[in-house]
Amino acid sequence: MIYDRVALIGLGLIAGSMAHAMRCAGLAGEIVGTARSADTRGVARDIGLCDRVVETAVEAVQGADLVVLAVPIGAMGAVAEEIGPHLKAGATVTDVGSVKRAVIEAVAPHIPHSVHFIPGHPLAGTEHSGPRSGFASLFENRWCLLVPGAATDPEALARLRALWEGMGAHVDEMDADHHDLVLAVTSHAPHLIAYTMVGVADDLRRVTDTEVIKYSAAGFRDFTRIAASDPTMWRDVFLSNKDATLEILGRFTEELFALQRAIRTGDGEHLFEYFTRTRTIRRGIIEAGQDTDAPDFGRAKPGS
Ligand code: NAP
Repeated sequence: MIYDRVALIGLGLIAGSMAHAMRCAGLAGEIVGTARSADTRGVARDIGLCDRVVETAVEAVQGADLVVLAVPIGAMGAVAEEIGPHLKAGATVTDVGSVKRAVIEAVAPHIPHSVHFIPGHPLAGTEHSGPRSGFASLFENRWCLLVPGAATDPEALARLRALWEGMGAHVDEMDADHHDLVLAVTSHAPHLIAYTMVGVADDLRRVTDTEVIKYSAAGFRDFTRIAASDPTMWRDVFLSNKDATLEILGRFTEELFALQRAIRTGDGEHLFEYFTRTRTIRRGIIEAGQDTDAPDFGRAKPGS
């Protein structure tokens, strides 16, 4: 056991998956959870997601050794302000937000000096959300990035690292700004492109045509899966990782124009070289074990 009591604030995909994974591996003595709505708290109670589901975040953090903020990025600051005065001295607060600089700026001012704040981000997810969407193996063989500060207590950091490793993740440490740039390339810009592509297809009024759906195969179908991701979460991601996302989208637009020109001028050599380079990147991802070559990209849903 790594922590005697873990408090989960927010009971959606990520917190729910943590609850399942911590239980499976026996990492927490007691898991206490809370969510904003009575509906979510009711579902969490019905399915036995936590050992205890309480009404408020203040109640949830009482006596907790680890507090996990698993709410949308835009809500992190308000939750931290609410729980700040009620945190146990020596406890660790972490978060799972997909953007780090903005979360640190919103949360850190509310965390007392006697409490360790170690931001984190598991690079794992699905397009599903809510208390029923979590599953124990979500973090297996996925990366979790921790963002300690210069003054972070090494022992508190080692414990949090052990928790994520216990849930099956590989852990790396990263600076907040670098994290936000890396994620803009690997996750945030690709999501925006998927949203756009599905939007374009819809504008053409063809997305509902049975032919488009029937013959979409992995390409368009994968775009629609990504574009089905939670609107609140992704609105917050773009609003809080503005600079890095805009920088990557600027570069993306330049490359897209270059490809557009190559198509118009019949520059097959440019296209071939470009696609050969990108194919090598894809092979590297598979070799690193972060995806599979299966037609569904290895993402078959549990129970499907
Ligand atoms: P989720 O399934 O939608 O769950 C979000 C939880 O936060 C719910 O319990 C919700 O309560 C609560 N919540 C929503 N708005 C709130 C507010 N204004 N104040 C307090 N609580 C609020 O979300 P998730 O996918 O687990 O994402 C949670 C965090 O993980 C986000 O910061 C996201 O950036 C990060 N993350 C997500 C993924 C992913 O792929 N989904 C991956 C890595 C990290 P109610 O149900 O009662 O509304």
